[in-house]
Amino acid sequence: MISLKSEREIEIMRQSANILKKVFIELLGFVKEGMTTLDVDAKAEKTIRSLGGEPAFKGYRDFPGTICASVNDEVVHGIPSKRVLQEGDIFSLDMGVKYQGYYSDSARTLPIGQISAEAKKLIEVTRDSVFEGVQAIKKGNRLGDVSSRIQKHIEKHKYGVVREFVGHGIGKELHEDPQVPNYGESGTGIELKEGLVIAVEPMVNLGSAAVCILDDGWTVVTEDGRLSAHHEEMIAITTNGPEVLTSFERDI
Ligand code: MG
Ligand code: MG
Repeated sequence: MISLKSEREIEIMRQSANILKKVFIELLGFVKEGMTTLDVDAKAEKTIRSLGGEPAFKGYRDFPGTICASVNDEVVHGIPSKRVLQEGDIFSLDMGVKYQGYYSDSARTLPIGQISAEAKKLIEVTRDSVFEGVQAIKKGNRLGDVSSRIQKHIEKHKYGVVREFVGHGIGKELHEDPQVPNYGESGTGIELKEGLVIAVEPMVNLGSAAVCILDDGWTVVTEDGRLSAHHEEMIAITTNGPEVLTSFERDI
């Protein structure tokens, strides 16, 4: 069941997302080679709490971290650990906040120091695919219009679109209906309505789209061991039109 949000609810979600944006900006200046993903996790938790929010992921289905920390061939859901970030790594950082009963959720893939041109392009195409999808998020369009635009942008660059994990509605729950796949047919799926709030989050593999889950039960990795990137933004359809609640790099 899809829960459409009132303007009042969207305003609380905007505030939740504002906390998340501030934490991301803080972490962008903090993350560097030589630190562990647990160091980043501790900083994220401290910053979220200092801004009046709660970490959304900690304890979710017993997930132990504030962030999901996925490095290189890790796609999503990596558990923060003593792994040391190294120059040349790409680090997917996924994070959520709960504030006044409402969730926000966003992800970025960060370069650690100098990265290869190949990795840089993968990160850029992944990010841009989200904003391609956002162009199709408007009242009266269908969800498949969003999915197909994301897929087309990614496949134009010959990358693999992960199928097993998808975006989602968000609100009083971290994951709500509808599911938002990163592949699909335009003109299909539910109609987009005012009050819809969704997280769009393509996971993009440099090689094949195939993934597997490690024995820890969480970490998703590429089957071929090649790099993967992730970018997630939360978008609301407000009375004034679509609004990207989590974006801080660019106005849209
Ligand atoms: Mg997320
Ligand atoms: Mg999400």
